[in-house]
Amino acid sequence: MSGWSCPNEVKGQCEHVAGQKCDPGMKGCVLFGKFRFANTEKNSPRRERERQEAMASDSEQLMKTRSTQK
Ligand code: SF4
Repeated sequence: MSGWSCPNEVKGQCEHVAGQKCDPGMKGCVLFGKFRFANTEKNSPRRERERQEAMASDSEQLMKTRSTQK
C-alpha cells in the first residue's frame, strides 16, 4: 500500500511524459529534482552538486568551530 499516488499515472503509464511508463523520479517526472533518490541517475546533477557543496561548507564550519574551541 502506498501513501501517495501521482495524478499523472494511469494504469502504469505516465501522462506527464508521453509514451513512458511511470518511473517516479525519471527525467521529466514531476518529482525530478525535488527529491533525492537512492538511484543516483534520477537525481538532478545540479541539486546533487549543491548538496555536496553544502556538506563541504558544513564540514568546513565544523572544523573551524572545533579549532577555535581548543
Ligand atoms: S513518472 Fe512521475 S509524473 Fe509520471 S506518472 Fe510517474 S510519478 Fe507521475
